[in-house]
Parts: sequence; structure tokens; C-alpha cells
Amino acid sequence: MPVASCPVHGLDADDLSCSIREHVAHSLGKRGQEAGCRDVATAMALTLRDRLVDRMLETRDRYRESRAKRMYYLSIEYLLGRCLGNNIYNMNLQGEMAGLLQSWGFSLEEIREHERDPALGNGGLGRLAACFLDSLATLDMPGCGYGIHYEYGLFKQSIENDRQVERPDYWMAEGMPLQLERRDQAVIVPLYGRVEDHQGPDGGYLPLWVDWQDLVGVPYDIPIVGYGDRTVNYLRLFAAKSTDNFNMQIFDQGDYIKAIHQKVYSELISKVLYPSESISFGKELRLVQEFFLVFCSIRDITRRFLKQNRNIEELPEFTAIQLNDTHPALAVAELMRLLVDERRVPWDRAWNIVTRTLAFTNHTLMPEALEMWSVELMEKVLPRHLQIIYEVNRRFLDTVRASGVTDEAKIRRMSLIDENGGKQVRMAHLAVVGSHSVNGVSKLHSELVKKVLFPDYAALWPGKFNNKTNGITPRRWLYKANPGLSGLISEAIGEDWITDLDQLQKLAPLAEDPSFRERFAGVKRAAKAKLADYFAKTTGIVVSPDAVFDMQAKRIHEYKRQLLNAMHVIHDYLRVTEDGYVPPAPRVYVFAGKAAPGYFEAKEIIHLICRLSKVINADKRASDWIKVVFAADYRVSLAEKLIPAADVSEQISTAGTEASGTGNMKFSLNGALTVGTLDGANIEIREAVGAENFYLFGLTTPEVERLLGEGSYDPWEYYRKHPEIRRVLDALSAGRFSPDEPAVFHWMFEKLLSRNERYLHLADFMTYLDAHERIGMEYANPDVWMRKAALNVARMGGFSSDRTIREYARDIWGIKPFPPKGAAPRA
Ligand SMILES: *Cc1c(COP(=O)(O)O)cnc(C)c1O
Repeated sequence: MPVASCPVHGLDADDLSCSIREHVAHSLGKRGQEAGCRDVATAMALTLRDRLVDRMLETRDRYRESRAKRMYYLSIEYLLGRCLGNNIYNMNLQGEMAGLLQSWGFSLEEIREHERDPALGNGGLGRLAACFLDSLATLDMPGCGYGIHYEYGLFKQSIENDRQVERPDYWMAEGMPLQLERRDQAVIVPLYGRVEDHQGPDGGYLPLWVDWQDLVGVPYDIPIVGYGDRTVNYLRLFAAKSTDNFNMQIFDQGDYIKAIHQKVYSELISKVLYPSESISFGKELRLVQEFFLVFCSIRDITRRFLKQNRNIEELPEFTAIQLNDTHPALAVAELMRLLVDERRVPWDRAWNIVTRTLAFTNHTLMPEALEMWSVELMEKVLPRHLQIIYEVNRRFLDTVRASGVTDEAKIRRMSLIDENGGKQVRMAHLAVVGSHSVNGVSKLHSELVKKVLFPDYAALWPGKFNNKTNGITPRRWLYKANPGLSGLISEAIGEDWITDLDQLQKLAPLAEDPSFRERFAGVKRAAKAKLADYFAKTTGIVVSPDAVFDMQAKRIHEYKRQLLNAMHVIHDYLRVTEDGYVPPAPRVYVFAGKAAPGYFEAKEIIHLICRLSKVINADKRASDWIKVVFAADYRVSLAEKLIPAADVSEQISTAGTEASGTGNMKFSLNGALTVGTLDGANIEIREAVGAENFYLFGLTTPEVERLLGEGSYDPWEYYRKHPEIRRVLDALSAGRFSPDEPAVFHWMFEKLLSRNERYLHLADFMTYLDAHERIGMEYANPDVWMRKAALNVARMGGFSSDRTIREYARDIWGIKPFPPKGAAPRA
């Protein structure tokens, strides 16, 4: 059939208007007058999709023709956030769209509020994946994402009776107009069953995986448009469906209904996202999810490769696969299985292909997050993969011994199988052994990965370990989220910063210019006034835009120490109400974040914050000076509202616990000053923005290691020595913020004073107070403060995810940009 070239798919206002009205009529079946906000949002999304799909096909042809090496990002989470606004901004259609909507009596902002966030991720790890996709497309690089098309995303949070309540997030309730279903590219996935030993025609060992059950992975593609609409890559998410095969045994027994029931299990696999990224679940369904992602992805990748290349041995020349944490680490075993069992590649050559193709990113040092799967479970779900893992391990440990290692304790440490207790497969070890590159996500973290997590591997393969400090996309996190500030920046230095964030350096001299500072302060104040309206509308809490907006927005976790922040709030409140203290400036403490549903401590921290909010906001003695807001349901679209309005960014994790953080980057890029520890990327942010523009406090990682290692941390010593600490802890334990349930927070008192409190809250509390003291004083002097804030913006260019992606492309993936004909590569 001849290629379609429909003239209506243009990008000027008339073409867009025509398409939107066309979709209202023929995709939604409504008359123009009947179309409400949601209909207009859907019609706009479809209108954009038409154009994106054209560009996506063009991009695909471009990569094919140039036989481009491609990178596939495997991640069990993608925290995309809303797509409509992002697509409009990346295609630079905001003027046209706003104009059209206005002529029909709508506003772009109100239309955008009708889109549900696709929240197919928990937090930082999933959001990083989304930022990477934006950068890959913006840089015209052949890089696509693979993930799971969860039916239920991360739960929705609401606050009832001061506590978190979780509700399911059926995110596609109103449809997902952007996605393309690709039934024709569905993949059949085998699971369970057993292995039979056979001999191949060549006399070699030929295992047969038999009696497996099957299900189908159906791909859904979400187009990912780069800035300037030059390249459209895609995110391919697989949904689990049942096959129309029946388990004939059950069927033959005449139990039709039971046979159908078994089909229902298949569809459970992509039903729901596990609601935490920082603990390992150990549940069969999660293992099956991980395998489902890996199997569908590897099948799809090799199928595409083999369409263009005959020789599977060339796979690493044309393909790079990045494993986002250990969740897709089964890729090592699955790619081996495909090569050895299906394509009959000899083991050593197959292993060479696998390790040259795969690379692994570690995201955490927390022991409770390190994934291990019991051998028993793996044998049941993936019998052939377990065999392969054992064989990989046997050969690997042989080479370790051959290299002269005789220390059996060391060999046990390096083994892929943990034998302390029941046998378990160490997924991180599998990923390290099966990859040619292992990276951490900030300088500190990458050092700790070598020193703490994999010292033996780092000694064996020093060249394998490297660092790629995380980044964030400036398109979403500045250009789109903060039109006030991005307008001011573009006025001052032009628009090149959008794809070349180092250009922000040109703002540094302007930070010395009082008239620029004044405009900068005006932009910040306007963002705060807008957020104040949002708080008034959603929580009823009235806050002044002239107060310091002090924010901590991230998952609630003990290591992130929201409790330290809450203790400071209590301190501040008691000082004002009991000591007659008058602060240099009023403060609004904003908290936002979800707690994993089964995480008692995290949920109680939310409870405490909500209680503080009630008590403090209602206390006439304090409420002119202190307000506390818990903003419910933290997600990308809420982050976009909060961050432009922040003055102070709380990045206060115990040193050595936060791998990188990316929230810290978003805040600083939007002109908030950080109060933070020397942890994760905070260290690099502080180096970049200047120590004098960052409020540092707390122990260093070596100091934390020493205290915890020696077991010499004695919180009671701090309690006895510092009346400030005593007063806060006693208030907690006495039920001061929970008079109706005086004992609810007593556990916090106990835990904070326990010798094995891992996060050392009390050790850092006094220096944290000092840092806040400086913040209060410096904020009161707008010339000083706004200069620092503007310098933060000017010096954050290095934290663009474009920089991160270029480093991965150069050092790990070996991929290059393929811009459209006639377009120059990005700076
Ligand atoms: C950036 C982001 C995170 C990560 O925040 P950290 O402070 O790095 O933990 C989590 N959730 C959302 C919605 C985000 O946008």
C-alpha cells in the first residue's frame, strides 16, 4: 500500500485545530459543543500522537538505514509523570495550543490537570529512567526503554484522621490515548515446568525445558519525543495476557472452569507495581514479574537484531543493554539460555556475547534492598535458568581459583549462591559477573560500591567499576515545570540552555546585578503565591508567600530522616511558644511523600507530621511564624508544583545511605538552597554551587562508619548533654502532639535513644539546628539570599541528564547520535 501522507498532520495552529476537532468528532463521537475538558485533553493527546507516530517511524527508518548501534534500558519502573504538557513543550507548541484552547474557552493549565500521572514507579529509580528517555531522544540517540505495563501504578495516597490511606491507582481509567498497542509483536513467555536432559545431534548436552505454562506479553509503545521534535524514540511496556491455549490435562478432565481460572493467573503478572523500591520482596509474583520483563525484552531485542543481521555473534556490536538495578538481572541467564539452547552457540562464545552486551547500574547499598531469590523458588519458576546460573557460577569460581585465590571464605563471598542459611541466588552478583560495566550513581556511592558492596570483585576487575552521577532533564524540571524562571533565564541568556544546560553559567554575573536579583525574587514569590493558593484549596491551610518555604519531598524512609526534620519543627515551635523566641523570618515547613504500605515507622512519621500540622497551625502563639503542611499524594505532577516554590531543600539523609538523590538536583536547579549532609550527589552539588551557597551539617561517611562499626554510638549522651534534644524527645514521649493517644509516638523516643539506631538522628541534630540558624538569618537579607539562590541555578548545568547520558553513551554503550538529515548534533 502506498505510504500515507496526510496533509492535516502539520504543526501550525490551523492544522492542530482541525485535527483536534476531527478527533473530538471521530475518535470520541461527540459534537464540538459537547466536548468538556477531558474530551479536549484526549483529543489533544491523539492529535499529538498522530504527529509523534509519524516522527517515530521516521526515526526508526533513520536508525535502520544507518545500522545504528542501539541501547535498551531495562527497568522494572518508569515514573513518567503526565505526558501531554511535556509533549507540547518538547514540540514547542505551547503557544499554538494555549491560543486554540483560549479561543474555545479553556486554558492549557486546566486541560493538563485532567491527565492522570502514569505512576509506574516508586521514586528516584523510576524517575531516573524517565529522565534518561527524555535525554536520549533529545540527543537523537538510539535508546529505548523496556518495562512492565502495570494495570495499577503506585497507590494513591490520601490523609484520613492524620494517617496515610492507600487507594489503588487505576491509571488508565480514562484511557491512555498516547499509547499504541502492538498485538502483532506479542511474545509468548514460558514459566514453570522442568528440564529434561537430552543429547543434541552434535552429541552435546541438549537440555529441554518442558511442561512449561505459557502466557503472552503484549507490547504497548509510548512515544518519547526529544526536545525540538527531531527524534521520537519509544518506551515499550509489556502487559501480561493469557494465551488461548488451555492446559489440556485439566481441560480433558472436563474442568473447563478450572482451566479458565489458570488463565486468570497469567493476567495477574502485570496487575500491580510493588509499592517500594528499597526492600526486596521475596515473593513469587515479583520473581515472575522480573522474568516476564526480561524474557519479553530479550526476545524483542534479539528479534529486531536478527531482522537486520544474520550473525548473532555480532550482537554486542549493535546492541547495548543496561540493567537498571538488579530487578532485570535475570537477563544474564535468559540471554545465555537463548544463545546456548536456542541458537546452539558454544558456552564460551555465548558468555562473551552476554558480558559484552550487558551493563549494570547499582542503586543502593542498603542490605534490605539487595535482592536474593531462594534456589527452591527459582527451581520451581525457572528451572533451566537456575541450571544456567549454577553453571555460570561453577565456571566463574574455577577462574577465581585459577587466578590464585585459595581463601575459601573469599570464594564463598564471591559465589553467586549465598549459603548462609537456605541457598539463595545473589542477584547483584549475577549482574556484576554477567556485565562488562558496573556503575554507581554518584561519586561517593560509586566508591562505596567498590569498597563496601563488592570489594572482592573490584579487586578482580578494577576496570569494570565506574561512576555515572545521576542527572535530571531540564525540559521537565525547569522549562515546563517553572515557566516563570525559565522565561526569565531565556530573556537573559537566550534559549540554548534548554539543550545545553552548561549555558546557565552565563547567569552567574547577573547574580551580582540587583535588578536581576529583584526579578529573580519576583519569579520565586509568584511561584510561592501560586503554591499558597493550591495549599489553601487542597488543605485549607493558609500560608504567606513571604515565609521561607522549607521543603522535604521524597519517599518517607528512616534513612532519609524526615524525623530529623520533624524534630526541628518541634524545636522551632517550642522555642517560639515557650521561650518567647522571635524568628528572623516566618517558615512554612512542607512535607510530601508516600510510605510503603507495610512500613510501620514510615507511616507513623507521616502521622506525626500531620499531628504537628494540626497542633501548630491552630496555635495562635505560633501560627504567624510557623506553618506545617503535609501535601498528600506526592507524584511527578505534585513535584512540579512544589519545586519552583521552594526556598530551602531538605537533603538530610545519614551520610553513606542515599545513593545519589535526584530531588536534590531539581530543587537546586529551581533556585532553592540546600540544607544537606555530605551524602550522595549532595557532595557534588555543593562543589558545583560553592560551599558558601549550601548549608552543610552532619557527620561524614567515615565518621558514620566508625560510630556504627565500633558500636560506640550512645544517643543518651546527646540526650543528657543537650537540653534542646531533651525537650523535643520529651515532648514526643509525653504525647504533646497526640493528647488523645498520648503513647502513639513513644516508640520514636525509644528508637531514637536506642544504641543501634542506624541513622544517627541525635548525632546530627545539633549541627542541623546550626545550619537552620544560618538559613533564618541569611534569608532575612534578600540581597544575600537571592544572590545565593541565583548562583545555585547558574551552577547546576552539570546535573542535566543529558550530561549523564553522554557519559553512558561514551563509556559504556558505545552509541552515537543520529540526528535527522540536515540537523546538527546537539552541542
Ligand atoms: C525526583 C523524584 C523522586 C526522587 O526524590 P529523591 O529526593 O531523590 O528521593 C521521587 N519521587 C518523585 C515523584 C520525584 O519526582
